[in-house]
Amino acid sequence: MDKIIICKECFKSNYIKEHIAHNVEITVDKCIICNRHNGIDLMKNEKILEMITNLIAYNYSLLEYSRNFGMAISTRFGNIFGEDNPIFNGKLNDDIGITLFKNIKTTKSSVVDHWTLPFKFVKSSVLIRLEKELSKKNYYEVIDDYMEIIKKHLSKVILNELEDDELYRARIGFNTKIVDAEGDLENRKISFPYIKDELEAPPPMKASSGRFNKLGCSFLYLASDKETAIAEIKPDPGQICSVGTFKIIEKKQFIDLRKRAIDSIPVEDGLETKNLIDSFARLFSEAVPKEETHKYFVTQFLSEIFRTLGYSGIMYDSPQNDGEGYNVICYYPDMFRLIENSEEMFKIEKVKYKISDALFDERKKYKYFEFKNEEDRKKYGEEDY
Ligand SMILES: [Zn+2]
Repeated sequence: MDKIIICKECFKSNYIKEHIAHNVEITVDKCIICNRHNGIDLMKNEKILEMITNLIAYNYSLLEYSRNFGMAISTRFGNIFGEDNPIFNGKLNDDIGITLFKNIKTTKSSVVDHWTLPFKFVKSSVLIRLEKELSKKNYYEVIDDYMEIIKKHLSKVILNELEDDELYRARIGFNTKIVDAEGDLENRKISFPYIKDELEAPPPMKASSGRFNKLGCSFLYLASDKETAIAEIKPDPGQICSVGTFKIIEKKQFIDLRKRAIDSIPVEDGLETKNLIDSFARLFSEAVPKEETHKYFVTQFLSEIFRTLGYSGIMYDSPQNDGEGYNVICYYPDMFRLIENSEEMFKIEKVKYKISDALFDERKKYKYFEFKNEEDRKKYGEEDY
């Protein structure tokens, strides 16, 4: 078999770079991409071929890269290691690219969605199964099983202490009270923010259920900045909100599901954990419309697992504030203290909407299909998409 010599520097993945630095013998041959450094022989490194396989599955759908679908698709796909590939800093020529591709093992994936989606967009099968089971069984009948599964994966997740000492919490509304003011002939009405316990987490008996807490569980929901804190409570334009600043008094470990933390979980090391944690992060950061709060059932269940496993809470990117800020959910409200006199009021001037890229028109998914319903067929089915 021919050699394929690549140097450490020509891999994009820091994980692979590290692996080469510590575990792989460098040959006397020069790298075929940069022609500057001595490289390793890829064909002799099962481990690195496996990491490349994982990276390919993460970035492309099975339909795109699998050679099991016959020549037509492989030919269309061409050289996966060509221009702008996710593996190398530079490209391999077509012959070498195709030779390398033939030597990597196609992921044997039982995940149906991966046929049409890269793994980075596939919902974890653990999460799919969990949603199904929770729709049929009580949470306490299944929680032990999931605790075991999730514990195993969480050992690879980034746990962080909060880097910000001060966080914010908002509530729609403010106080108006009548006062007897000096010099006024009549009683005067004054406005001021909610203060003290009006801004703190409610006592458990009064806690309504939320994205992460069940009814009667009082968690503290905080955000990294005032705008995020306000956006999270979804006020309408014209409404006034009160905001308080909270200081952390006890540093503990939180599960960090923010994008930058998740990006550092290596997909090279295995797709399963990466896929599950990606799915958690998407679930937590997904905006849920006011009338679909039954979706909170799954996030509440996961929250219960994290808490039982000993974590103090979760950090995740805010779905409301365009990825600018992040949210903190803390299972133990006493870990924070509202800073005295930090309470302020803000008026909502306008609410911004952000839309996704245009969603895929699924009529384009199948080459041949017919609408079941006669009328649908007439109305939607005649054109060529
Ligand atoms: Zn190189």
